[in-house]
Amino acid sequence: SENLKICTIEPSFARLLIPPRPKYSHKTKYGHVLVIAGSTGKTGAALMTSKAALRTGSGLVTMAVPAALKVVFQSKVLEEMLLPLACTTNTLSKQALPEILDFINERANVVAFGPGVGVNEDIEVILKALIEQCPCPIVIDADGITVLGRIINILEKATSQIVLTPHPGELSRLINISVKEIEKQRIDIAQKVAKQLNVVLVLKGVPTVVAEPQGWVYLNTTGNPGMATGGSGDVLTGIIASLIGQGLAPFYASVLGVYLHGLSGDIAARAKGYHGLIAGDIIESIPEAFIELT
Ligand code: AMP
Ligand code: MG
Repeated sequence: SENLKICTIEPSFARLLIPPRPKYSHKTKYGHVLVIAGSTGKTGAALMTSKAALRTGSGLVTMAVPAALKVVFQSKVLEEMLLPLACTTNTLSKQALPEILDFINERANVVAFGPGVGVNEDIEVILKALIEQCPCPIVIDADGITVLGRIINILEKATSQIVLTPHPGELSRLINISVKEIEKQRIDIAQKVAKQLNVVLVLKGVPTVVAEPQGWVYLNTTGNPGMATGGSGDVLTGIIASLIGQGLAPFYASVLGVYLHGLSGDIAARAKGYHGLIAGDIIESIPEAFIELT
């Protein structure tokens, strides 16, 4: 029965999934995440996804950003690299597509797509091309999920593994089921949608459910209500993409990712409490989460 495929994420299991860090190694061994995120008014989303990826251990992180915002991003980043691309007034334009595909083919081994990227036809063209041509896994979140809703059948033509990380509101728009229905049976729905869409589905909330196309499901045990704050989900996107870049299969990267994200939030809450906790605190607690887990 499909019920037998449902389990909780035990700390001992999460620990086993942590990518090894051999003594003789180099940054090229730890993955290169291309973060396609951010637009006017939502630059922080891109910055948080990227910083979370670095804190999770990525060797390199590059941010694909609208060229009009280059100066804004350049003044905010240290460890990240920037790929400024053709844009409309506020978001990436479809003219950016060849450069995005070249960069992925030559350099990146995972893509994080969507936080604050905007919702319009140009973003739709870019996402469609990525799903149909990308040689490496894609983690799709936030605006990326909203845009995916317009071209959902494209998933049948995916050339790589896709991870979707919706909160119930985003999943509701994607599959046309009310948030209330989703909350009544979040495990069952996540299991079915992962099968139907042939994706790894991370349905965020309490508990966060990680499901894959064969029916296997993991329920998260970490996290707290202090994490109900803007940017919290963008951090998770960066964590999962980073773990994929470091070699974990997308399903196991998602399992470990949600566990580490929640544990980081729990560690942050010890110092900040539930009310004062902000998404940046989760990022800054990722290192301690690794230390606590190992
Ligand atoms: P988003 O809505 O995209 O910002 O994502 C919010 C993130 O915070 C998800 O990973 C949620 O699972 C997590 N989160 C929000 N509220 C809670 C809560 N009450 N308990 C545990 N995790 C939460
Ligand atoms: Mg979000």
